[in-house]
Amino acid sequence: MAELSLRNIRKSYDNIEVLHGIDLDIGSGEFIVFVGPSGCGKSTLLRSIAGLETITSGDLVIDGERMNAVAPSKRGISMVFQSYALYPHMSVYENMAFGLRISGMPRAEIDGRVRQAAEILQLSPYLQRRPKALSGGQRQRVAIGRAIVRNPRVFLFDEPLSNLDAALRAATRIEIAKLKQSMPDVTMIYVTHDQIEAMTLADRIVVFKDGRIEQVGTPTELYRTPANIFVAQFIGSPAMNILPGKVVERREGSALCSLACGVSAEVVCAPGQFLQDEAMSIGIRPENTRIGGEDPSELTFAGTIDLVEHLGEVQILYLDLPGAKEKFLVKTDGHGLFSRNQTVKFGVDRKNVHVFRSNGDASGSL
Ligand code: ADP
Repeated sequence: MAELSLRNIRKSYDNIEVLHGIDLDIGSGEFIVFVGPSGCGKSTLLRSIAGLETITSGDLVIDGERMNAVAPSKRGISMVFQSYALYPHMSVYENMAFGLRISGMPRAEIDGRVRQAAEILQLSPYLQRRPKALSGGQRQRVAIGRAIVRNPRVFLFDEPLSNLDAALRAATRIEIAKLKQSMPDVTMIYVTHDQIEAMTLADRIVVFKDGRIEQVGTPTELYRTPANIFVAQFIGSPAMNILPGKVVERREGSALCSLACGVSAEVVCAPGQFLQDEAMSIGIRPENTRIGGEDPSELTFAGTIDLVEHLGEVQILYLDLPGAKEKFLVKTDGHGLFSRNQTVKFGVDRKNVHVFRSNGDASGSL
């Protein structure tokens, strides 16, 4: 059991601040995933929690105890790295037992823990093998086993699957989900840049950008109600389409907006939001579009196909919309026949249209 509380955590390297005041509460037994573009500070924060980096200012509190100055080995944390960092000359068993031996644990207890971890991770048949006689996925499981035997309160994973090929990554992802189920009280924090890992493993996802948190929420919350354009485009694949526009008439309780592609939309909004002539934009997920008809309940658009991408079950149409610099992506079933330069009409249910103010924050609705 472990609750973590991060209070205004800042981290600088050589006077350059890379974490700008992180506030985050993590509940006991939660599986938290950190995502964000490369260089946004995910690993630095994870390493700071582990004690591998010093925290420049702020408080790291685990179960009510301030941990900033506590040695890494005394924090009750185990970390699994991207590079498995196994000892090549030791067997799987010895790799898992080594840390416990150093700490002076009795042999019988070590043996019990190693065998139990091996059982959970399906490594029992391989205990006497050296790492070089294992597959990449098995090596990563040994690295996870080495972390499990320490009975941590908090488990940290730093991109643990990124060295595996796609098939192994999917299989090991399922192993990690099962591991979480078998250790419901252990708090886990997992860094990845893989959307699918984030969406499938997380109780809550933390989206980072440039050393700050953009949004924290369940995978569904982030997908359905992104707080801003950055999160909207970061979660979901292919990314949400963004269409720029402008407020042409501010009305009581709403704003009439004109999109660059020639479509008008009335945005329901509070007083003070969406000022006259303010730039704004709307966001539409490729999967929320419907080819065809002119259903009056929908917002309808027309575009010209530039490219068709067949993915079997579905196809992605890359459309040019008038006045739009970026391609607009429409996801549709795999059956329709489409060709380049064809003009298609499509509709979007108004409740699936996201509205953003000029500063990128989500606001208002259709
Ligand atoms: P992420 O894990 O999100 O890719 P990192 O936490 O590795 O990002 O890096 C965050 C920022 O801190 C980056 O700008 C990176 O260059 C910088 N950084 C990371 N480690 C060091 C270091 N040891 N010395 C100086 N700068 C560093």
